[in-house]
Amino acid sequence: MTQNHYPREIELPRRYALEAQSPVPSAGTIRIGIDRDTGLFTDPSGLEVVPLVPEGCCLLPGFLDLHVHCRDDPSGKERHKEDYGSASLAALHGGVVAVGDMPNNPEPPIDEESYLRKCSIVLERAAIEVVVYGGVSRRGGVFTKGIPWKCYFGPSVGELHDTEGVGGVLAGFRGEWVAFHAEDPEVLEASKGAAAHEDRRPPEAEQVAVARILELAGTHGFRPHIAHLSTQGGLEEIVRARASGLEVTCEVAPHHLFFDRENRGAYPRGDWLQMNPPLRTPEDRRALIEGLRDGSIDILATDHAPHSIEENERGISGVPLLDTFAPFLGWLVAEEGFSWAHLIERAARRPAEIFAPYLSAPHGVLEPGAAASYVVLDMQAPWNVRTEHIMSRAAWSPFEGTTFPVSVRGTAVRGRYYEMGSIAE
Ligand SMILES: [Zn+2]
Repeated sequence: MTQNHYPREIELPRRYALEAQSPVPSAGTIRIGIDRDTGLFTDPSGLEVVPLVPEGCCLLPGFLDLHVHCRDDPSGKERHKEDYGSASLAALHGGVVAVGDMPNNPEPPIDEESYLRKCSIVLERAAIEVVVYGGVSRRGGVFTKGIPWKCYFGPSVGELHDTEGVGGVLAGFRGEWVAFHAEDPEVLEASKGAAAHEDRRPPEAEQVAVARILELAGTHGFRPHIAHLSTQGGLEEIVRARASGLEVTCEVAPHHLFFDRENRGAYPRGDWLQMNPPLRTPEDRRALIEGLRDGSIDILATDHAPHSIEENERGISGVPLLDTFAPFLGWLVAEEGFSWAHLIERAARRPAEIFAPYLSAPHGVLEPGAAASYVVLDMQAPWNVRTEHIMSRAAWSPFEGTTFPVSVRGTAVRGRYYEMGSIAE
């Protein structure tokens, strides 16, 4: 596919119905009504069917990505990397309708005032649903109810430099859902002299941190979520803790499922594949794929971390992944034998369930009463990823040169439909 897929909003009736094939064969044809006034799905009876879904395309619930760095905040200091406008375009391009936005900003949302300031920027600029994480810090504590939390258990890019004595801080988070960046600071400190980025952040750093976080969760009663799980050892800690009765969720990112330390050199952007936690061994990668398959990993989430091209050339950590979200799922189907039913569960229904307390309406299903947020996937139009297609301000993709078997034809958010237009139009 050579055109640029710039998302363009299409004007549609206030109430209409869609009829389309489901990518899940047993589901057959889907018929659903859309009410643009409420932004919710409705009963399709009596509504005119709009021919929005061409032959060969399928209708799916819009995807949710609970781990994104939109880079926007009241300081505006990182808008050269991304803002809520450009992140929205990248998300629409990837079939993503709602994201969780991480708090490691120059002006981090770590108390009620800074949190509300950040939320007001979302209202001004975002075209998708953005749920803002509160940052766990010594300063803020649980400053408001009904929001998700992020705790940096170990250093990362733009970390909240305030998580020393994290156990004590977390004692105040009983009942709260807290996502963790899990890398043990002591293991990282002991490994900092190694030559390769991957060896400065070894797998033990994750395994030790996951074990420690789960132990703290048992003591303090917060609900832990392990972000961007990258190792077999980390997954084993989670499976063990669950077996002993702890409620814990976790996510895996596309780069840890697709790339590893050995195959990275085969890709045009192999030298920019630096992130925290880093790429691991092929064995770790296989374990994560199997974990996503057997359900021990709850969800797929990208850790979309855009930087400017200059920053990437200097060797900063983080890769942009929103644009390629749904097409990457097509790769899991074609190359790893996943079913679409399973991926809808892992990338739409289950993340919607985890984020249900924080979303404006139910998501992840094509049912009356849920948010009318959906994606139209072209199952017959492969996409060869090229830099000029990318909507993220990062303006590159780790998947550059890769051909995904499916592409996004359009994405709707709360009843507003954006078609992927051509640059030639
Ligand atoms: Zn992150």
